[in-house]
Amino acid sequence: MKPGAGRGLVEINVEECKGCGLCTDACIPKVLRLSASLNRYGYHPVEYEGRGCSGCGLCFVVCPEPGALRVLKLAA
Ligand code: SF4
Ligand code: SF4
Repeated sequence: MKPGAGRGLVEINVEECKGCGLCTDACIPKVLRLSASLNRYGYHPVEYEGRGCSGCGLCFVVCPEPGALRVLKLAA
């Protein structure tokens, strides 16, 4: 498997993320984490490890912030 390859890809808009951690808790393969850095509003935004996303969409479902993240399902 190529680096970054998987069945899904999560894209994060760090300025829309409030760092609540709901997505990191929901992610079964645990490929999301809160960044050590701050966004412009003073929150620690979520970041994707870059591989291992299954494309399940749970992070998108639980996120209360419209536009903070989106999930792309990758073709096999
Ligand atoms: S789509 Fe699923 S596996 Fe991928 S980051 Fe979101 S919760 Fe985790
Ligand atoms: S992406 Fe959404 S659910 Fe995840 S930490 Fe940011 S605001 Fe919370």
